[in-house]
Amino acid sequence: MIVVRDPQLARADLARGQLPCPDCGTPLRPWGAARARVVRQADGTLRRLRPDRARCPGCRHTHVLLPVTSPPRSGYALDVVAAALVAHARGSGHRPIAAAQRVPADTVRGWLRRARRGLETIRRKAADQLSWADQDVFARLAPQPTLLGEYLNTLLAAADATVRRLRLTVPGLWPVAAMICSGCLLPDTGS
Ligand SMILES: [Zn+2]
Repeated sequence: MIVVRDPQLARADLARGQLPCPDCGTPLRPWGAARARVVRQADGTLRRLRPDRARCPGCRHTHVLLPVTSPPRSGYALDVVAAALVAHARGSGHRPIAAAQRVPADTVRGWLRRARRGLETIRRKAADQLSWADQDVFARLAPQPTLLGEYLNTLLAAADATVRRLRLTVPGLWPVAAMICSGCLLPDTGS
C-alpha cells in the first residue's frame, strides 16, 4: 500500500513513471484498480472508492494507491478516525467515542487498539518530521495527559510546520499528518 495525498496527481506520476516502488525504488507501472470499497464520511454519507493499483517491474510487488483521506481497513474517512483518536487521547473510552461519531463500538475499539500498537512509530515519525520542518517547535509543545495525546500533538505540530516550510495550501492538517505518518495512525493488525 502507498498512501497518496492526491490520487489524480499520483495517477499522473504513475503514468509518467515517476512513482518509485517503496520496496526497491524502481519506477512503478499502472496495474489496473484495487477492489472497490465504501468509505463512510464524517457527515454520514457513503463514498465509493476504487483505488488505483501499481506494479513494480523490479521486485514484482503490487501496491494499492490509497488516498490519505481513507485510512486502510477502517471503512471510515480520516476525519472520523482522527476525531476518535483525539477523543481517546483526551481520556474518552471507546463507547462514548462510538456514540459521538456514530460508529459501532467494536470498530472504535479496533482503531484504538491499532493506534496503541502504532504509538512508537507515531512518536518517531512525528519527531523526525518536526526536526526537519521546525526544530524550535519542540520547546513550545504543551504537555498532554496521555502518550497518545503527546504523540498526536507532536504529529500535528509537525504537519503545521511542514505546511509552513513547504508553503502548502491544504484544507486541514490531518491529511498532512497522515501523510507524515504514512499509515502509522492505524497500522495493520498483523504487524
Ligand atoms: Zn519494487
